[in-house]
Amino acid sequence: MESNDFWLWLAPVFLLPVFFAMGWFAARVDMRAVLKQAKAVPEGFYKGLDALVEHKSGVAVRALAEVIDQQNEARQNTYELPLTLGKLYRQRGENDKAIALHKQLQTSPDIVGERHDVVTFELGQDFQAAGLVDRAEQIFVGLQKGAMARPAREILLNIYQQDRDWQKAIELAQELNRSDQAYQFEIAQFLCELAQLALYQSDLDTASKHADEALHINRKCTRANMILGDVALKREDFAAAIAAYSAIEKQNYEYLSMVGERLYDAYDGLNKPREGLAVLIGYMQTFPQLDLIGVIYDKSLLLYGEHKAAEMVLELVRRKPDLNGIYRLLGVRASELTPTWRSDLDMMRGVIGQQIQKSVMYRCRHCHFKSQVFFWHCPACNKWETFTPNRIEV
Ligand SMILES: [Zn+2]
Repeated sequence: MESNDFWLWLAPVFLLPVFFAMGWFAARVDMRAVLKQAKAVPEGFYKGLDALVEHKSGVAVRALAEVIDQQNEARQNTYELPLTLGKLYRQRGENDKAIALHKQLQTSPDIVGERHDVVTFELGQDFQAAGLVDRAEQIFVGLQKGAMARPAREILLNIYQQDRDWQKAIELAQELNRSDQAYQFEIAQFLCELAQLALYQSDLDTASKHADEALHINRKCTRANMILGDVALKREDFAAAIAAYSAIEKQNYEYLSMVGERLYDAYDGLNKPREGLAVLIGYMQTFPQLDLIGVIYDKSLLLYGEHKAAEMVLELVRRKPDLNGIYRLLGVRASELTPTWRSDLDMMRGVIGQQIQKSVMYRCRHCHFKSQVFFWHCPACNKWETFTPNRIEV
């Protein structure tokens, strides 16, 4: 080996400490940069963050507002922090402060393009929270071409639903429907709202047209068949009414209890009340959870008298005993008892009746909101068709 080669072989060994030193130096430089950056974050920011974690939003807004003031004085224009502080004001119900802050940010010459859209979107939400829905609507309509187009449309859809402006809601949902999320379910319900309105105004052709459109969009829309049945019943086309109401069985049988009485009326219109009653009894035997026992008892009483009506109800309750059935059962058995027993039975029935009022209700499957009244559109979570169609023990 020549001496030159020898030094070439040994060079990495000598250079090793140099490499170590360079690595150490680089790490040190990085650490310094990090520490410098950390020192650049104002103390108030951490104070605000800590207050948020502790759920003390009042302390947080004061701390963050101070940081923004300091940054403004130092002419360090920021975008994210005022945006967040505005949201926080809105969350606390301080809508005037949120509006002022977001407006100031919106007019800043540095806020352009997508950032401008984001701030404008926040401002729209501030106006909505403050109850200035018309101004909010104007803002969201103006945002339909930029980066915030989709969330703006989603909020607009909510506004139109709150205003019961179904025509506008349908148009907007159709636009949203073209993208990834499907809105057929909602569009069918908006059409049903229009149909129901026309039905109230006895405009049967319009009601029928909208209900047909709803079924075309969502063939599982039970409400559309209910409306078509109601239209046919008003036209005294009883066969068509029976066809529309019965079609619900194939869509979602749970909704049959909502048309029980009307279905019976349609059979009655054809002079076939006994057939109608038999259909309802058949439904309850197949689907015991249906809330049809009241109408079955009433119609049995009308057609066959007290004794037979009591027998029919007894049989149905024994199949699926529940609070409602037992309440009904105690009523039909009262006539068989001595006066003393009957007064005790009335007392028991009263107690059960009170319990039913408190614990047998319709319930939203999405947010668990409970009500004695059925809603197609949940007033608590704004979802459609989430209510149980039969009252349940909650
Ligand atoms: Zn709900």
